[in-house]
Amino acid sequence: MHHITHWINGKWWDGTAARQGDVFDPATGQVSATVDFASPSEVDTAVAAAVSAFDSWRHASLAKRTSVLFAFRELIKRNAGELAALISAEHGKVRSDAAGEVSRGLEVAEFACGIPHLLKGGFSENVSTQVDTYSIRQPLGVVAGITPFNFPAMVPMWMFAIAIACGNTFVLKPSEKDPSASLRLAELWAEAGLPDGAFNVVQGDKVAVDGLLTHPGVQAVSFVGSTPVARYIYENGTAAGKRVQALGGAKNHMVVLPDADLDLAADAAVSAGFGSAGERCMAISVVVPVDPVGDKLIEKIRERVAKLHVGPGSDERSEMGPLVTGPHRDKVASYLDSGVAEGAQLAVDGRGHPIVGDARGFWLGPSVLDHVKPGMRCYTDEIFGPVLCVARAASYADALDLINTNPYGNGTAVFTNDGGAARRFASEVEVGMVGINVPIPVPMAYYSFGGWKTSLFGDTHVYGTEGVHFYTRGKVVTSRWLDPSHRGVSLGFPVNA
Ligand code: NAD
Repeated sequence: MHHITHWINGKWWDGTAARQGDVFDPATGQVSATVDFASPSEVDTAVAAAVSAFDSWRHASLAKRTSVLFAFRELIKRNAGELAALISAEHGKVRSDAAGEVSRGLEVAEFACGIPHLLKGGFSENVSTQVDTYSIRQPLGVVAGITPFNFPAMVPMWMFAIAIACGNTFVLKPSEKDPSASLRLAELWAEAGLPDGAFNVVQGDKVAVDGLLTHPGVQAVSFVGSTPVARYIYENGTAAGKRVQALGGAKNHMVVLPDADLDLAADAAVSAGFGSAGERCMAISVVVPVDPVGDKLIEKIRERVAKLHVGPGSDERSEMGPLVTGPHRDKVASYLDSGVAEGAQLAVDGRGHPIVGDARGFWLGPSVLDHVKPGMRCYTDEIFGPVLCVARAASYADALDLINTNPYGNGTAVFTNDGGAARRFASEVEVGMVGINVPIPVPMAYYSFGGWKTSLFGDTHVYGTEGVHFYTRGKVVTSRWLDPSHRGVSLGFPVNA
């Protein structure tokens, strides 16, 4: 049985774990590996390694740091296929989707290669007579990243590429469901020349998370995962005096206005609803057709769903893979029954969809629930699987109200050919990331990613310039040289002249 452990201080941890978990191949439903779960003592060892590496890494020149980042970027590119295969084997997503994840993470590493420019401060000459002021941003120290199962490479890269470029050292706690990609990334950092201890991985569950949240050596925590855990991380991390950004779950609505190109909208709804089996925080989970286009749109969605190839991620013909675990598949499937019991119509029942692959895999075909209303469990809960809800709206105002009263605010999209309507939607909708005829509007690395409301706790979004801001703190220096006029004692408050 393959054994997965921690990466601490530039090497594999060689201890014996008190607790372990199983890692599955979702396409076969079989256990493929066991993973060690860190105790507080292993967390402490990893944080100690990161603390001791910080002293030299923070003083490494920008030239040295960028040379490591450029090398890391090249190594990710060279090993992208292997990373995608590792992700697919433990998560279940199809290889092309996993490759897309790697390339979106790579964008952040590329952004981080420009760190010298991003860390430039300001300088004001002569703020008072012969007094100059300049500002700098300095790293925080040890930063922890806690990440979800659905993007085991991209989400950690959102965090650590920028944190490390800024001069911090990092301890990553990836999801226990698909831990291998993080370890390959750790090896690539080492190969790129990052000093030992600057990047560490501790595997595990809540015990490891709590160890990081309360550890006095950890200065900041970046979290991405479900909303209840995000809230917990934010409340407990800030109570322990740490800087915290905690991104949570989502319920992303896609509004289709009556003038929209319905073929384009149907393509987008199916791609964004069922890509990665709906296990994306930016997946479209609710389509909102505005009267009178509902029936026509559902028909077009139904036609497209029927043609989707569902099968193992390793099979090139597969467009959608299995779900991550058996219990998660069962939970997702339960919304089909609860939706119908609460009055929705099952327009497509994915339980009958043809599946190519091992019957023991965690399969659920793509499903569509129509006539979904607020208050139904399939609407209020984040399903996080291949179940697309359709909530019909009588008008633009009703569609907007539906979104703005939803507690989540991660992503949304509007499909229309009316520029004025699109502009109004972008302005009025209370959501952090908006697509106009773009169903999954994940910002490029030089913008920042983040939702509103219960989709994000904290002030700053991840990556981009907000990421640089999160992983550094400001310092302003006021200096005077060669000016004899300030000799002599003066107890008055300094004024500028
Ligand atoms: P999760 O919240 O269950 O787990 C996320 C991380 O927290 C994992 O590392 C896990 O080990 C840890 N964890 C789980 N339970 C914990 C607890 N009780 N206490 C402390 N730590 C705990 O999320 P998941 O199922 O791995 O991922 C799916 C969720 O992540 C979805 O809700 C999805 O919307 C969200 N997500 C959000 C974004 C975003 O950018 N907003 C991106 C990706 C995923």
